Amino acid sequence: MISDYIPVIGLEIHCELSTNSKVFCTCSAEFGGDRNTRCCPVCCGMPGTLPIINQTAVEYAVRAGYALNCGINKFSVFDRKNYFYPDLPKAYQISELNFPIVLAGEVPIEYEENGEKKKKSIRINHIHLEEDAGKLVHDDLNGVSLCDYNRCGVPLIEIVTEPDMRSPEEARKLVETIALQLQYAGVSDCKMEEGSIRADVNVSLMRKDATEFGTRAEIKNVNSLKSIYRTIEYEIKRQAQILDRGGEVVQETRRFDANKGETKAMRSKEDAHDYKYFPDPDILQVNFTDEDLERIKASLPEMPAQRRERYLSMGIPEKEAMVIVNDKVISDFFEDCMKVYNNPKSLVNFINGEIMRRINLGEIDKDAPKYTAAQVAHLVEMSETDKVSKNDAKTIFREMAEKGGDPEEIAKREGMIIVVDTTRVHEVIDAVFAANPGPVEQYKNGDKKVFGFIMGLCNKELRGSATPKVVKEELEKRLAAL
Ligand code: ADP
Ligand code: MG
Ligand code: ZN
Repeated sequence: MISDYIPVIGLEIHCELSTNSKVFCTCSAEFGGDRNTRCCPVCCGMPGTLPIINQTAVEYAVRAGYALNCGINKFSVFDRKNYFYPDLPKAYQISELNFPIVLAGEVPIEYEENGEKKKKSIRINHIHLEEDAGKLVHDDLNGVSLCDYNRCGVPLIEIVTEPDMRSPEEARKLVETIALQLQYAGVSDCKMEEGSIRADVNVSLMRKDATEFGTRAEIKNVNSLKSIYRTIEYEIKRQAQILDRGGEVVQETRRFDANKGETKAMRSKEDAHDYKYFPDPDILQVNFTDEDLERIKASLPEMPAQRRERYLSMGIPEKEAMVIVNDKVISDFFEDCMKVYNNPKSLVNFINGEIMRRINLGEIDKDAPKYTAAQVAHLVEMSETDKVSKNDAKTIFREMAEKGGDPEEIAKREGMIIVVDTTRVHEVIDAVFAANPGPVEQYKNGDKKVFGFIMGLCNKELRGSATPKVVKEELEKRLAAL
């Protein structure tokens, strides 16, 4: 039974660094482009070419190390990891084995499991810098596979954790936390859908009374948070069944089939010696001085934990603050709004409500919205200062989201700007009183509940020529004088 075992999970997380150029040549490292248009003799491994290391990639790796509370190695060495596969034209990958750029560290995670809030720290064993490989494009129609080398040589860091996780949720949360830290650090966009973050998932089971870890399976290249969760869930079930039968888990490399929700054996596991690693003679060792490291550390921008503190000190409730902080794009958007209209609570309400709702419905492309932060800030200000009603503000925003446009212009065109006309307010109140003697009488006799009903009638009539606040004040005055 699954409950007889403790799952043990370790991850090797690969993140592409968002440098402009590749790690050993000057080709563009950007995602996309026509096939094989972003490569050169260096990243395609032509004989006689020499790699030159990209300083920014090295600094990004160090920043990633600091963002994940790790130690930095002042001396690191690149190695050749030799293997043959068509997506690797050099037949070796430049990586780091014995002297990786980032040393051990620890990443705190906070998560909810079975309705309970939990906290834990996951240890990082090290982080190394390496190059990505190309991509195989399978053409099923013609029964061939083609190579696209655009991704060859894109800088990649591999974050290797200790086997500290004990559930799919812990693993999912760790990847999410690491992605957020790296996005804030400005070193990777960690877009799962573009493959810029993916993980090898190691899973084993141990009996509750065991003192040693069991044999693990390694599931390669799992590329979404959901798949990581499902992979682990499936592996736990699969291995528990084997162990229940008295069998033994085979140490092997597997892959996850997201359509079937299953993992399948690929090959028996390879060891480091299978790769015949040796130091790359073409690349200089990396040496840092204390000043270099101080400078890189100081270049880290505000990180999620600091931002959360600042938001709390602005009076934003914890839950709302976390929704914003946990999404860097949204958080940066909020920061831009604040520069135009300094009203954190109203902005957060609008962003977490109206904007998030439409993003989740797929109506807004979060990365390329049709509105600007300044326009949204202005809209929220118009709504807060009763220049437009709350309801109309939503209608205006809908148009901004769909087509773009200035909120003030939309409001004017649609006749939504509220101009308070006190004479008209009095006229409407008189008319409502005359038409509804019953409720007015009720109010006079002490039934204060009808106030809302009377006010509703007035508001309906006064739409656009008074704010609810003014109507309420005037109505209270009139009723008191009855
Ligand atoms: P290798 O060099 O063979 O890839 P490592 O010791 O570097 O092995 O570990 C690779 C990953 O596997 C690490 O993330 C580690 O935490 C994880 N791991 C190691 N042993 C186990 C185990 N018994 N169960 C689950 N994960 C494990
Ligand atoms: Mg490994
Ligand atoms: Zn190149």
